[in-house]
Amino acid sequence: MLHCDACHQKDVDGCCYECVGVSKPLLDKIVVLDPGHGGIYSGGVHYGFRESDINLSVALKLRKKLARLGAKVIMTRTRDVNLAPPGSTLGADLRARVDVAKTSGADIFVSLHVDDVPNINLEGPASYFPEGRSSGLASAIQTSLVNEICTDGNGVSPANFYVLVHNDMPAALIEMGYLSNPAEALCLMDNAYQNLLAGGILRGIINYFQK
Ligand SMILES: [Zn+2]
Repeated sequence: MLHCDACHQKDVDGCCYECVGVSKPLLDKIVVLDPGHGGIYSGGVHYGFRESDINLSVALKLRKKLARLGAKVIMTRTRDVNLAPPGSTLGADLRARVDVAKTSGADIFVSLHVDDVPNINLEGPASYFPEGRSSGLASAIQTSLVNEICTDGNGVSPANFYVLVHNDMPAALIEMGYLSNPAEALCLMDNAYQNLLAGGILRGIINYFQK
């Protein structure tokens, strides 16, 4: 994986425009972006960083990039909030995310997360698709994401995460890296690195639709 210093040398916004030209390859595509956790559900917390903040920050960057290319972007949250009313269960929060997707008429659903495990040496992104269904979206995103940040990553796997299996549309859940890895945690909090992640996911989404 590239270290943050190396990432800083790359202008993702500039590259993005060069690579996809001035056309709007995502015109009329509806994309639901789901920044995982939020509010009382912070997700993983390490080294003073919260997963929910990283997920939201990358999602907001990705929203901007998608919109520039013509996509209509629907976010499950744009602030540090939980989706279900106070006092609700985590299940209700997850259900609310799927409800946003179901009522949106969206083409795809992309949930953004970062991972948190006891082994602090694990690093790099992994992408998940709903068990028993197509891996196409997750594969397209994983391929361009690892290419963008110059790492092998941890591949594409089926999973039974609630927001994947209860969604009818093509869906992917992206673990963008490990917050439990101290070096990667610093990268994940870095603005330029977050732009790289958003750029990699963006290109994966473009590739998915252009197949
Ligand atoms: Zn998470």
